[in-house]
Amino acid sequence: MTIQPQPQETKIKVAVIGTGPGGLAAIINLLRLPFVELSAYDQASELREVGAGISINENTWRHLKLLGAAEAIEQYTKRGDGSKIDTEQRNGNTGELISRSFQKVDPEAAPRSRIERYKLQRALLGQVPPDFIQLSKKLAKIVELPKGIELTFQDGTTAGPFDLLLGADGIRSVVRQHAFPEHKLSYTGKVAYRTLIPQSAVAHIPNIPQSACFWHTRNTHVYTDPLDNGLFEIATRADEPEEDVKKVSWGQKVKKDQVIHHYDNYCDTIRQIIAAPDEWLEFAMFGGPRLESVISNGHIALLGDASHPLSGAFGSGAAFAFEDAYILAQALLYTHQRQKPISEALVLYDEVRSPHYKGLYEILNGFGVNAKELNAISPPLEEQDYINERTRRNWGAENRWIYKYDVTKVWKEYTELADVGEDISALTLKTNKEAEQQSVPVISVEA
Ligand SMILES: Cc1cc2nc3c(=O)[nH]c(=O)nc-3n(C[C@H](O)[C@H](O)[C@H](O)COP(=O)(O)OP(=O)(O)OC[C@H]3O[C@@H](n4cnc5c(N)ncnc54)[C@H](O)[C@@H]3O)c2cc1C
Repeated sequence: MTIQPQPQETKIKVAVIGTGPGGLAAIINLLRLPFVELSAYDQASELREVGAGISINENTWRHLKLLGAAEAIEQYTKRGDGSKIDTEQRNGNTGELISRSFQKVDPEAAPRSRIERYKLQRALLGQVPPDFIQLSKKLAKIVELPKGIELTFQDGTTAGPFDLLLGADGIRSVVRQHAFPEHKLSYTGKVAYRTLIPQSAVAHIPNIPQSACFWHTRNTHVYTDPLDNGLFEIATRADEPEEDVKKVSWGQKVKKDQVIHHYDNYCDTIRQIIAAPDEWLEFAMFGGPRLESVISNGHIALLGDASHPLSGAFGSGAAFAFEDAYILAQALLYTHQRQKPISEALVLYDEVRSPHYKGLYEILNGFGVNAKELNAISPPLEEQDYINERTRRNWGAENRWIYKYDVTKVWKEYTELADVGEDISALTLKTNKEAEQQSVPVISVEA
């Protein structure tokens, strides 16, 4: 994206709120646009990631390359010879294997990697000038005025006016709350417990898989993964009634006693794995309905978890945020080159991204339908058959387009059609279909 700045060009003033994967990707993309004057804020006093690992999927990888951050991640990736197991799906109660995929042979194909979250953050931060992000700036208030958007932070300072406000402030987005006050998050009834321990702490456990493995039961799952750096990741889901959950719990340390009883019904291997760590991090999972539109008033756009509170579903939220940031920057460039207003860039952004999120929410709804259908079978399925069948249905090949989805291709086709004034509404769906046809039958779940 090389553009020559116009000598007397008035820059557009853009504020990014939040510097998780989405905000950082937005910053990197927008700093490449010479007609943008960018400011970025985060509530944190220092940028550090909580949680454990994060999967770098094929679509994540594509954007890391575009963001200039792939090289820093490459060292943590696994390129196989096709014989090594990549991921397994097992029945959590019995340990029975449901499916298995193997590492990719093609050296050009995206390698699998599961890394600690801070490594992804560090790779992205490496592309942002030092001290560019203003820290300890918790956004408290947004005022939309004719001259632009003014921001007030919790420390009493203000900033603005801005021509464009980007809400990359995560699932509990203040920007979303301002733009769509009727939108409500709710507790999903699930918590995630996550930890990293030395592999030596679990090496003695019989049948411990040497690859990433999802262990499914009727309502929850456990993910185990021996990482390359000698650590062993355990990431779980547990049903936890609302009254037992601290609503703010996000990365809170909890003791093993709070965790292990949730996994009593799992097979012996998992019970032993779960008993190994003394301490866990707890994350109460919140989600919310899909927003019909991710833009507001021609000068506010949401991206990343702020735009789609999917509660970590699909284990690819970083990639979705990167896709958002890419399209947003492309749309601003496209309209700038045609001397069109920012509001038109936001419409393009919304037209590309909202149908994608619609597709993702439809898959989630499909999970509910699958459960209903399986529950309606008479005579009822045996517990193990139920788990195996639900895993196959929810995480079979038909949902793999998510990870194949190439938003750069969508954008190219979109603008070609837009330039000749054609209807573009069916384009995202068409691209999803194509990605689906290329898909391989591998199963993956959020970890
Ligand atoms: C349990 C779990 C497992 C997951 N596993 C994966 C995985 O394997 N792979 C994957 O790709 N994704 C995964 N995800 C999803 C991924 O973590 C998120 O989608 C991703 O972090 C979203 O990035 P973001 O930048 O939109 O938001 P966040 O990462 O939440 O960042 C938001 C930023 O905004 C800042 N902020 C918030 N409010 C304010 C405010 N008022 N003022 C200023 N700053 C503010 C925060 O400090 C933070 O830095 C998982 C999610 C969960 C919950």
